[in-house]
Amino acid sequence: MADREYNVVLLGAPGAGKGTQAKMLSDELGVPHISTGDILRGAVAEGTELGAEAKGYMDRGELVPDELVIAIARERLAQPDCEAGFVLDGFPRTVEQAEALGEMLEDLGREPLIVVNLTVDEDEIVRRLSGRRLCTGDCGGIYHVDQEGIESGAPCPAEECEGELYQRSDDRPEAIRERLDVYRRQTQPLIDYYDERGVLTNVAGEGDPEQIAERVLQAVRG
Ligand code: AMP
Repeated sequence: MADREYNVVLLGAPGAGKGTQAKMLSDELGVPHISTGDILRGAVAEGTELGAEAKGYMDRGELVPDELVIAIARERLAQPDCEAGFVLDGFPRTVEQAEALGEMLEDLGREPLIVVNLTVDEDEIVRRLSGRRLCTGDCGGIYHVDQEGIESGAPCPAEECEGELYQRSDDRPEAIRERLDVYRRQTQPLIDYYDERGVLTNVAGEGDPEQIAERVLQAVRG
C-alpha cells in the first residue's frame, strides 16, 4: 500500500523506457501501472469494437483519436485501485488529453500530479525500438535482441513465464519513423505544458534500468 498519494505521469519518446520504468515504479509504490497502449493492444487482441477502431492508427504509428483514449483513461482512473495513485504510461500524448486529465483529476479530487520526463538520445531510441521484443504472457517482459536468446518466437526468459517473444507491429522502421514524428509534433509540447505548471522533472533515461529507476523514484518522492 502506498504511504501517500502518487499521481504520476511518465512522459518520453517511444522507446524512452516508459513501460519498463512504469512497471518498476508501480511495483515500488504499490499503485497501478496504466498504459493506454497496453489497453489498446489488449482490445485489438480480443477483437473488440474499440480494438477494431484503434488498430489502423496503431499499425501506422499514428495516434488514436483523443476522444477514444480520453474515455479509456477516464474509466480506468475512476477504478477503486487508483485511489492511492497511479503511474500513467503513454497518456496524455496531446495537449487536449493533458487538459482532459487535469479535469478528471479535479473531478476525482486527486492532486497533485507528478510528471517525469525520460530523456533519451534519438539514435538510442531507434536502436531500442527496432530491437525490442515483448512477451505474449502476463509477465510484461520487455527485451532487446542484443540480449542472448532474445528473438521473435523464442520462449520468454522470465522465470515461470510461459509466454513467447514477439515484435510489436509498430516497431518496424516505417511505423517507428511516423511515431517519432508524431511524438515531436504532438507529445513534445506537453513538456512545456507541464513545465509551465511547475510539475515536471527531467530524468536521464540512458544507462542501467535499475539506476534509472532510482532517479525516477527520487524525482517522484521529491
Ligand atoms: P505505446 O504502447 O504507448 O507506444 O502506444 C502504442 C500506440 O497506441 C500508439 O502509437 C498509438 O497509436 C496508441 N496510443 C497509445 N496511447 C495513446 C494516447 N494516449 N493517445 C493516442 N494514441 C495512443
